[in-house]
Amino acid sequence: MKKSILAIILIGSATIAIKSNANTIIDGTKTYPADSVKKVLVDPVCKMKIKPNTAKTTVYNKITYNFCSESCKQKFLAEPAKYVKK
Ligand SMILES: [Zn+2]
Repeated sequence: MKKSILAIILIGSATIAIKSNANTIIDGTKTYPADSVKKVLVDPVCKMKIKPNTAKTTVYNKITYNFCSESCKQKFLAEPAKYVKK
């Protein structure tokens, strides 16, 4: 007397929940304040006009300063008080 083999097929209903964590990646190297993009930027070190897309920026006393080049930025950072208007 053979017993029939019971094939038990378990169908697991696996719900794959894909959570999309759409974190906004902010490019830390280029930060442009919204109001300064429209204006003509002036390098406080050499007084040169700068295009916003090429500007080097740094933040000093919560104010963003724009520079024509990395060397001007370094001059500013060396003596910020010399270039900051009060
Ligand atoms: Zn400059």
